[in-house]
Amino acid sequence: MAGLPVPGSQLITSEPDGPIAARIPRQVQAILETLWADGKSAYVVGGSLRDILLGRTPHDWDLATDARPEALQTLFPGAIYQNTFGTVAVQRDGAWYEITTFRRDHDYADFRRPHRVEFGATIEEDLARRDFSVNALAWGARPGEAEGLVDPFGGRADLDRRRLIAVGVAADRFGEDALRMIRAVRLAAQLEFTIAAGTLAAISRQAELVRHLSGERIARELEKLLAADRPSIGLRLMEATGLLREISTELADQRGVAQAKLVGEDLWDHTVRTVDAAARDSPVVRLAALVHDIGKPATAADGHFIGHDVVGADLAEALLGRLHFPRVAIERVGLLVRNHMFSYEPGWSDTAVRRMIGRISEPALAELLDLRAADNLGSGLPADAGGLDDLRVRIAGQIQARAVLDRSGLVIDGDDLITELGATQGPILGSILDRLVEIVLDEPARNDRPTLLLLAQAMLAEDR
Ligand code: ATP
Ligand code: MG
Repeated sequence: MAGLPVPGSQLITSEPDGPIAARIPRQVQAILETLWADGKSAYVVGGSLRDILLGRTPHDWDLATDARPEALQTLFPGAIYQNTFGTVAVQRDGAWYEITTFRRDHDYADFRRPHRVEFGATIEEDLARRDFSVNALAWGARPGEAEGLVDPFGGRADLDRRRLIAVGVAADRFGEDALRMIRAVRLAAQLEFTIAAGTLAAISRQAELVRHLSGERIARELEKLLAADRPSIGLRLMEATGLLREISTELADQRGVAQAKLVGEDLWDHTVRTVDAAARDSPVVRLAALVHDIGKPATAADGHFIGHDVVGADLAEALLGRLHFPRVAIERVGLLVRNHMFSYEPGWSDTAVRRMIGRISEPALAELLDLRAADNLGSGLPADAGGLDDLRVRIAGQIQARAVLDRSGLVIDGDDLITELGATQGPILGSILDRLVEIVLDEPARNDRPTLLLLAQAMLAEDR
């Protein structure tokens, strides 16, 4: 269950060896105490517990209890019953905490999530349905009690070994829900853990079950993977296990395609290097980095990849469409891929710089430069190869000078052409405005009402 962000959680200090209780925020303690006082059992579970044991800052807090959703709504007035999986959200100091009734999953019909959920009676049952041992820990010490850690699958030791191992028989667990295989590679990247040999072998054998998953579920994991410090860890595992091919044959086909970049490395190596080099706080650039050369396998000929940017933009949009990324994100990534091959030279005129700004427009332009910097690093070049820093400065200069970049920057518009010059509505208006933009791009001083109206009048006369 993905919880909602917890503003207060940043206050937790990383002290993996201190007592666990000291690392649980007081809001979470208070929720636990309310449940305990009512005779219920209640625990901190899942990713948040795993993260504090690792000294990482959890981004949300999940709790598990034997209390039923109806009881939770009585105990916590204002709580919201979120879904049919028995999860109730409680708000404290502006942050939300998710409380899920113990569950026992069964009836996996089609390699996806269970079709129905049964409430369970014990924390052990609840932990048994979880995916990896490090995610199958629970903590619930009452004040004065010692450790309080429930660890039926050796998760604590696996945290120390920094490894992911399936709870129960890996092959069965992946057969129940194929998403767990993608979660494994995502968590391996996020936590910088290895995957136990048997668990990894089970992924390689059953990777094709991923095709039964919805695009949305895959996308949520992919997003988390791409937000890791080093997504390459997870991406390489995806490629090596065959998961990648189930998600994108075009990306999987990058393996083995020769590149005249780093010696001994192929196109897939270049892709993962580029993703790592992109700033982790920019999800769009990371995503674009992943797909920026997706068109290369299809266009490879004699060591060249002519048109791979245009072909790649279409393939990237199709892939992200299958994964149900938001429309705006798909369009943005498409734009970045389509334009990533620009070749700047210091000899570019200011007009050329302004034309680029007009074509790409902020903030996509900053992302395009970031993508190119990552692409450079992924090719073993300095980040600013190709005069990138110079181009950045020139773009900033033009933007600061408020140079006209498109029709909206002109001091006249279509209405002026109609009222002042008697032009008639129609495509001619747009074409005149575009020609005026070109003129002003070359010479910003011409963006002046009488000048533009006179120029427009001449154009109208020509076209009559
Ligand atoms: P993150 O830190 O990114 O939130 P997480 O492990 O908490 O990682 P969530 O999707 O928030 O991931 O899931 C919370 C918990 O629910 C997991 O730690 C795990 O115990 C369990 N879980 C989530 N998805 C599955 C699944 N598909 N199969 C089994 N258990 C799952
Ligand atoms: Mg979580």
